[in-house]
Amino acid sequence: MTMIQTQLQLVRDRIVAACQAAGRDPATVSLLAVSKTFGPEAVQAAWAAGQTAFGENYIQEAVQKITTLRQQPLPGQSPLRWHCIGPIQSNKTRLVAEHFDWVHTVDRLKIAERLSDQRPAGLAPLQVCIQVNVDGGENKSGVLPQDALALAQQVAALPGLRLRGLMSIPEPAPDFVAAVQVFMRVSAVFDALNAQGLGLDTLSMGMSADLEAAIHAGSTLVRVGSAIFGAR
Ligand SMILES: *Cc1c(COP(=O)(O)O)cnc(C)c1O
Repeated sequence: MTMIQTQLQLVRDRIVAACQAAGRDPATVSLLAVSKTFGPEAVQAAWAAGQTAFGENYIQEAVQKITTLRQQPLPGQSPLRWHCIGPIQSNKTRLVAEHFDWVHTVDRLKIAERLSDQRPAGLAPLQVCIQVNVDGGENKSGVLPQDALALAQQVAALPGLRLRGLMSIPEPAPDFVAAVQVFMRVSAVFDALNAQGLGLDTLSMGMSADLEAAIHAGSTLVRVGSAIFGAR
């Protein structure tokens, strides 16, 4: 086993332990391996160990990796699924719409409309999460909780997109209890939107340092980079 495969297994063990501690079924939490800054070989090592969902922040870097790996299918493993988890500028929406399966960082209608318009007809709709800002100022990425419902309803109506849930990147909290409290604010928005009939199934929150707290607060998808691939 490579170092990456060993660390991947440790992260899987952490997810199972966190689910058990929270009284949750481990099958309700999926792992997104965040491969930003690491090359295609790193992705291949995790892929060979059965990891198929990968997260990327930098669009150009990601598109290179995605195209390289598309030409090298791994026998016996399912195809890769690519999630865009970085901020998206208007001039990058076409690349995202053409190459990714998921986007976690929609926080403006204009970007959502461009992604929907530019999604190639032959592909499944782009799976989308709306990014929510529960602890920052106006300058931080993400829609404010009070504006999430309106944006979600508009995004849900776009034909090239399928709204799946919410994503959040809270500031690091001083301890477990504080981290759970901040993640619970995201969960509350998630529950409020579902109470309005939006049918969301994905709550994307938790990273290497705080995945246990996120799982405690209801996360269904943790985005883990350094704990799998090493320091960046
Ligand atoms: C880099 C990144 C991660 C992974 O962070 P680690 O601390 O390395 O696990 C998760 N989510 C987003 C949005 C990121 O940019």
